[in-house]
Amino acid sequence: RKFVFVTGGVMSGLGKGITAASTGRLLSNAGFDVTAVKIDPYLNVDAGTMNPYQHGEVYVLKDGGEVDLDLGNYERFLGVDMTSDHNVTTGKVYKNVIESERAGDYLGETVQVIPHITNDIKRRIREAAEGSDVCLVEIGGTVGDIEGMPYLEALRQFAHEQDDEDILFTHVTLVPYSKNGEQKTKPTQHSVKELRSIGLQPDILVGRSENELDDKTKEKIALFCDVPTDAVFSNSDVEDVYHVPLMVEEEGLDEYVMQELNLQDEALPPEER
Ligand code: ADP
Repeated sequence: RKFVFVTGGVMSGLGKGITAASTGRLLSNAGFDVTAVKIDPYLNVDAGTMNPYQHGEVYVLKDGGEVDLDLGNYERFLGVDMTSDHNVTTGKVYKNVIESERAGDYLGETVQVIPHITNDIKRRIREAAEGSDVCLVEIGGTVGDIEGMPYLEALRQFAHEQDDEDILFTHVTLVPYSKNGEQKTKPTQHSVKELRSIGLQPDILVGRSENELDDKTKEKIALFCDVPTDAVFSNSDVEDVYHVPLMVEEEGLDEYVMQELNLQDEALPPEER
């Protein structure tokens, strides 16, 4: 089973979820069973108690799970039904670990973020991925957030435990324009530096920008972030987010992901997708 982890840099609300869902859609077009996990690093157990004015409406799943809106994107883009197990929150993780501690399950151990919380996170990802060929895992928030740290550490351990060809890290960042109309890569460089400081090296960078990334911008990102130039993709502003899968397909994102995960031989030929 393959895992695609999607992190975000610079700021939230960038389009990480849409990028992940679009990647998933293209893999599903290529004949793979794709599922997704959304990680929300907040302490609420679920989105049911959250103010919709702050957070957007609650999305209700078939099993009655009250979850983040993003799960709706995944269901619509991937054409699958999800359950509340596909939305991991800090509230759920800690509640389970603390209840296990009270029940004496840890047999006197000191219960800690590493390994107890990180083990619970890894278990949830593995369980939600069961039955799929590829599982997308989107980490909410931005790299560097205190709340997100245990998840990034869990992903580092997860990658260490799997074969290299089964794991892919995609980092979505903002590429803004300067006053004189130049695309700026510094925010991307900084967020990748932050990722690397916690032991994660992205395999793919997706730059959210008003327009397509220039070749020069891609080369600069590649050089500073230590990825090949063809691992840098644009996700520019579109009128309708359902165009994003087509846009990133044109950029060759699906082919690159399949190549990195060693899936090309099992994929449907392009004319049958
Ligand atoms: P994140 O997961 O980074 O918080 P989302 O994927 O939820 O971000 O997207 C945030 C907002 O940006 C949503 O309203 C989404 O529809 C919009 N969006 C995402 N990608 C694009 C794009 N390429 N063009 C225009 N709007 C986009």
